[in-house]
Amino acid sequence: MDARTLRIKTEVLGYLSGTFLSKGYLWMLPKVLSPITDPLWPDPAEQKTEPLEVEVRTYGLRLRLTHSMILHKQAAVSRFGRIFVLSPNVRIEARKPDGWHAFEFTQFDFEARDLRMKDVMETLEEVIRGLARRLCEGGLVSCEEYGGILKGDFPVYDYADLGEEGVDRLTQEEERPFFVVNIPREFYDYYDEETGEWHNYDLYVPGYGEVASGGEREWEYEKITRKILKGGLKVENFVPYLRMVKNGEIMPSAGAGLGIERLVTFFSGLADIAEAQVFPRIPYREVEL
Ligand code: AMP
Ligand code: MG
Repeated sequence: MDARTLRIKTEVLGYLSGTFLSKGYLWMLPKVLSPITDPLWPDPAEQKTEPLEVEVRTYGLRLRLTHSMILHKQAAVSRFGRIFVLSPNVRIEARKPDGWHAFEFTQFDFEARDLRMKDVMETLEEVIRGLARRLCEGGLVSCEEYGGILKGDFPVYDYADLGEEGVDRLTQEEERPFFVVNIPREFYDYYDEETGEWHNYDLYVPGYGEVASGGEREWEYEKITRKILKGGLKVENFVPYLRMVKNGEIMPSAGAGLGIERLVTFFSGLADIAEAQVFPRIPYREVEL
């Protein structure tokens, strides 16, 4: 990583936290170890991956490393209304280095009890535009190159019409960031059983790929357990979370998670996400420090 990229990363972190604080979000700090974490499955963009486990013999505990903080976000937002967290995620996926996946990265993860899908997509669009403006006015990126983001709405496509191949094609063809909605995936994203539609979304940036994922969330015990089993997951991996759901402590909410290194890769025009980390964590690459 060079100094310009770290300045861009600093601006991204400052801009995101400042913007969400001004919108009334509360700042939560991350958890790295927990009895439960995101299964990341069945998300068509992910691999079936078991979280790393740590045996804490001193306390007689067995805890998992965070895949993502989605389940904690749901628990916290039910009490606090609007929250965000900058959280390290560790995902050990057996995929070849592709310049777009790190095995440890950071999410800017936000969630709000009073928002729906449309509101979150508007917020994501506003934030990407705001970032482009901030970086271009600060002389960190070319206004000519990134100014296009400021023109026109981000197009929205339905995953049912595209499939993975269509998404890949659009990533190469589109000139602006775009949304993909209605993606069949993890149990916590809201599925409307009447219309057969998923109330979720991914945000893509042209030439690179997905930079954010989010959705409206499930909160009903029966539906959640049914979806866990349907996804081939084990109910026992989510016991404390399911207890909260059963007690009515998980409320409807919506939110999204933005990949910090991916945003930096895009705005810095990097060829490899490794360049967006001071201490890179890239599959199959030696870790120096
Ligand atoms: P997910 O909920 O799995 O979609 O993760 C949320 C966001 O984190 C994604 O949209 C990416 O921006 C980022 N992300 C996910 N996996 C990786 C990875 N392996 N390396 C870097 N960023 C990632
Ligand atoms: Mg995703």
